[in-house]
Amino acid sequence: MPLINSLSDLFVQSVEMAGSATLVCDAENQVLLFNAAAEKLWGKSHHEVIGQDARLLLPLPVQAYYQRLQGGDGELTLIDIPHGDGSRHWGALTVSRLAEEEQVYFVTSVKDITQQHEEHERLRLLSLVSDHSDNAIVITDHQWRITYVNAGFERLFGYRFDQACGHHPSELLAPHLDRHSVGEARRKLAEGQSIKTDEVVYAQNGDRLWCSMVINPIFSVQGDLLHSVTILTDITNTKMHEVLQHSMLNAMVREEPLENLMQLACEEIERIAPEVTTSMLLVDDDGLLHPLATTRLRHSYFQLAEGLQIGEGVGTCGTAAFRRQPVITRDIASDPLWEAFRDVELPDGIKSCWSTPVLDAEQRVIATLAFYFKEVRGPSAFHQRLVDVVVPLCALAIEREKARAHISQLAFYDSLTELPNRSLLMANSEQAVQAALRNKSRLAVLFIDVDRFKQVNDSYGHPAGDELLQIIAGRLLENRSQKDVVGRLSGDEFVVVLPDCDAQRATELVEQLKLTISQPCQVGTNRVTPSVSIGVSLLPEDGHDMGTLIHRADMAMYQAKHAGRGRFSFFCHELNQQAQQRQAMETALQQALQDNALELHYQPQISMADGHLYGAEALARWNHPDWGQVSPARFIPLAEECGLIVELGLWAIREACRQLAEWRRAGAELSAISVNLSPTNFHDLELPAILTDLLQHYRLSPGDLTLELTENILMDTNPSTLKVLNDVHALGIRLAMDDFGTGYSSLSYLRQLPIQELKLDRSFVMDLENDATARTLSDAVIHIGNSLNLTVVAEGIETVGQHEILRRQGYHVAQGYLFSRPLSAKHMQRWLLDREG
Ligand code: C2E
Ligand code: CA
Ligand code: CA
Repeated sequence: MPLINSLSDLFVQSVEMAGSATLVCDAENQVLLFNAAAEKLWGKSHHEVIGQDARLLLPLPVQAYYQRLQGGDGELTLIDIPHGDGSRHWGALTVSRLAEEEQVYFVTSVKDITQQHEEHERLRLLSLVSDHSDNAIVITDHQWRITYVNAGFERLFGYRFDQACGHHPSELLAPHLDRHSVGEARRKLAEGQSIKTDEVVYAQNGDRLWCSMVINPIFSVQGDLLHSVTILTDITNTKMHEVLQHSMLNAMVREEPLENLMQLACEEIERIAPEVTTSMLLVDDDGLLHPLATTRLRHSYFQLAEGLQIGEGVGTCGTAAFRRQPVITRDIASDPLWEAFRDVELPDGIKSCWSTPVLDAEQRVIATLAFYFKEVRGPSAFHQRLVDVVVPLCALAIEREKARAHISQLAFYDSLTELPNRSLLMANSEQAVQAALRNKSRLAVLFIDVDRFKQVNDSYGHPAGDELLQIIAGRLLENRSQKDVVGRLSGDEFVVVLPDCDAQRATELVEQLKLTISQPCQVGTNRVTPSVSIGVSLLPEDGHDMGTLIHRADMAMYQAKHAGRGRFSFFCHELNQQAQQRQAMETALQQALQDNALELHYQPQISMADGHLYGAEALARWNHPDWGQVSPARFIPLAEECGLIVELGLWAIREACRQLAEWRRAGAELSAISVNLSPTNFHDLELPAILTDLLQHYRLSPGDLTLELTENILMDTNPSTLKVLNDVHALGIRLAMDDFGTGYSSLSYLRQLPIQELKLDRSFVMDLENDATARTLSDAVIHIGNSLNLTVVAEGIETVGQHEILRRQGYHVAQGYLFSRPLSAKHMQRWLLDREG
């Protein structure tokens, strides 16, 4: 070993004795010394190593390590040591240079740090895990002061380590917890118990989080508390889901109505976030808002939304629904979206609003969910999460409600006409029948069948047929009262059930119905005048249950159909005969009008003061070839009911004018003629024009004509009536109030109508001689007339006595058998001429 010779024995000895593994190399990296500790570390004997290149032991030449260490990087160099037995060790290496007798040596000593290294590595991995975990980890010392937080903690709560360090976790995260519960928890931990709990905690920015936490104490071998380790997991979403889903799904299972469900949602939200006031608005298919649920908004305020059309600037909710996006109004007072609602007083303290649209599966906006705050602010992350949980639940509830409505629509409504189908019809009818039986009231069932429906289908096609059925269904619903039941039985058959309805009322309603239905209408490209045949059965006469009543109404309908279309029939024989007679009369009257077979008779009116002729009243007469004279008391109400009255009235005016003109040509002088009109005549805005034309045509002046109307006109609700009356009056045609004293006239009404004449009702005149009350009444009437400056006519005067009383009372005009019965035109002409001559 020549090389080693130059090293002093002392040095060699100290190397051999050194506790740490040491090797000495020369400048050529040849190993000169290799001590016992080194043999142990590498698992090699010095015989294998001495004189060999040190790269057998170290990846780099020793000199390289030396230079690296000299280059400032003064730390120990960590090396990986392959052990002879195959195991791995870690060492920290130092190299020193030794120059002796122009020889350079490198002394390398390696400390076995395998254990420390592995520990360190474990820790490195641990903090890697802990920092990448979503969980927050907090470690405190024995005084519960934070000494470590992981990156998850910083992310979740927003505190950096330096902000958290030294604080108690409870003071940072749960300031709302009282001393007592904190003390209790510490006591448990100090006793060695772990704590597991769910708690609402606060982040640095004030956001609330629901966390599940596990706290473990760590003790020294001697049993002293060293640390506590807390792991916090954010369970906000889970918790919200749990709370909201649980209560809402439960309510859905209980089949609670939508309003209740939404109310519940609002309540739950406010329990979780007490600073929020919620409201839920439904958005219908037409984009109209409908209040659905709220907890704390004032009712009157909330209802303002009803019927609003969504759109830009329609508050926060209307805009959100319109944009299909959440809208945040931080300050309602200054937000332009609220411009239109500036003068609406906001509920107490509300300052801001955040509205989120609720979409259905087809991405249509079906509702809005709004959070109102009492501060100028926007939503927090917590609020956002709350909405994220609630909105799908709301969508679910609303869609479910719609599905349910749709299912019941499909199950109980006819899809073509949207009327109740047979099942619902029968159920509703049966209910009405039970109610009628209970209340001992009456009820009518109408079985309605469309006339010649097959023909419409065959000649215009099925779509036209469908359209006709829809039109008829719509007309069946017109003027129906709430309690009436209407439904489609099948094909072209409908049923209407009328509670509280006897034969008389049924007749009236059927007439009305026939009129409504028979209005001409457009079906496809064709104009048709629909008609129906109607069978009527009555409870209790014809049956006590719906099955029987429908069956009998059906039989009656068949009978009606048999008699010709557009007719109706009662099941009961007797009623049916009356009905048939009536319908026969109706048809005959229609025919008579068409054939100009009606006649007017004229009754003179005499001036009381001097006996001169004041005028004449035209009265309709119908002489039927088979039935003879039919009384106006019969055919006038009939015409009224079956819709012929307007035509009859117009005919009467025309005929009266024609006759007056004819008499005048014949030299028979008559200063005025009165014609009776029905209130219905005054619905027609064309009436003034018709009158003008007529007067012109017969070269008459407006003063030649007086129109008599009855007090019923006061009951008339048609909006045209008053205008037509005023227009007629403006033409200069006189208006007379007929049958005065029998009806509803009040003085104030009378003053509002543009009338010039009052006709005391005949019934008062009849009793004048025997009944003091009648005299008082007739006296009152003349006073009213005088006070309103009206001409007052007394009609039905049969006796000299009556005439005398009325004359004394100051009546202006007299009419009655005493002077003349109503006369045919021919007789009237003679009467007029005789009178002059
Ligand atoms: P009204 O307008 O009150 O007609 C007067 C009725 O009294 C007439 O009955 C007339 O014949 C009858 N009368 C006249 N003087 C006497 C008398 O001294 N004693 C008795 N007992 N009766 C007398 P009429 O012609 O049977 O007409 C009945 C009702 O029919 C009329 O009552 C009127 O409301 C209505 N009416 C007649 N013609 C027409 C018409 O062309 N159009 C309309 N809308 N209604 C008409
Ligand atoms: Ca009259
Ligand atoms: Ca009268």
